[in-house]
Amino acid sequence: MDLFQKCRDFTAARELMEAGFYPYFRPIESAQDTEVYIKGKKYLMLGSNSYLGLTNDERVKKAAIEAVEQYGTGCAGSRFLNGTLKIHQELEEKLAEFLNKEAVLLYSTGFLVNQGVISTLVGKNDVVITDSLDHASIIDGARLSFGKFFRFNHNDMEDLEKRLKAAGDSGKLIVVDGIFSMEGDITKLPEIVELAKKYDAKVMVDDAHAVGVLGDSGRGTASHYNLVDEVDLIMGTFSKSFASLGGYIAGDEDVIHFLKHHSRALIFVASPPPAAVGAALKALEIMQSEPERIEKLWYNTNKMLKGFKELGYNVGIAETPIIPLVIGDDMVCFKFWRALSDAGIFVNPVVHPAVPHGRSLIRTSYMATHTEEQLDYVLGVFEKIGKELGVI
Ligand code: PMP
Repeated sequence: MDLFQKCRDFTAARELMEAGFYPYFRPIESAQDTEVYIKGKKYLMLGSNSYLGLTNDERVKKAAIEAVEQYGTGCAGSRFLNGTLKIHQELEEKLAEFLNKEAVLLYSTGFLVNQGVISTLVGKNDVVITDSLDHASIIDGARLSFGKFFRFNHNDMEDLEKRLKAAGDSGKLIVVDGIFSMEGDITKLPEIVELAKKYDAKVMVDDAHAVGVLGDSGRGTASHYNLVDEVDLIMGTFSKSFASLGGYIAGDEDVIHFLKHHSRALIFVASPPPAAVGAALKALEIMQSEPERIEKLWYNTNKMLKGFKELGYNVGIAETPIIPLVIGDDMVCFKFWRALSDAGIFVNPVVHPAVPHGRSLIRTSYMATHTEEQLDYVLGVFEKIGKELGVI
């Protein structure tokens, strides 16, 4: 049996390329902003997770450059050994204060946080329970752990309770996304926290898409529901609102201390580079000093939710700056993507297996820095293409 035969048999992506409908790995020639350039052509960006629009902010870029000037380009080692810098610790302290948690630990990506934290904390007598729409990195963390792995139907509290009962006396960790990355809805944290108390489970919230978006000054989902003390672990990433790269876990000091000495995704991975840390530090400062950014993000979000609904689009259960438009058929979704691309709009099509068959989506997401004019243009284009393709 030839190990590589599966690679040769994989033709779906090549077929899309040949038909001119391949939407992935597009090389952008400019900064991640509300407008980007690809092969010299300008696109209005509706596919970015830079919710606060800080990825091309002069102050954030300057902070990254200054960090490189002081600390060089890389750490050449892990946090555990030679790779901890003063700015790593400074960012951990500032985040702990911001999130109202005892301690924070930085990892090199958010993916590694979920993988490293869940697999380290869930031992062989424990159970990890996840929402069926949780991010892939949560699933991978659960798979890598030595414990049992249960999933409950998306935001279905009866189903969660069943899994908690089935877990019996084991140590239990419930992990949910704060804002779900494809559907754009918010987790039912108050009910989850109540069930966690009843069944003696710990709660971890992935705030990748919620920090900078929900809660007091963007403190995330727990803050949004006023449940910071009831949530045991808050995970976040720097790759979205923080305009950088890296991730963090916030929680009790003894849990963070344990992770520092046991988490393989921390100990055996090179630490976040100075530029990334410098940028995240500045973004955190701006997040707190410019609340008008979050207000504008929500203004844009509400305008687009209302606009798409009025046009007759199915936005599913979206209620945040992530607004998916349900298209249905995969091929119609690719045609839709192509028509949008021709009109100079960058979006991400989401097809099976990322979503169930027949529920392909055009995922759109919004930034604080999108202008009224840009968003009006978007609604006009979506009206025209939606009608042409029979989606609305
Ligand atoms: N969790 C969620 C919900 C995400 O969407 C992502 C990234 N797309 C991650 C975790 C991983 O974060 P990172 O990009 O920092 O690896």
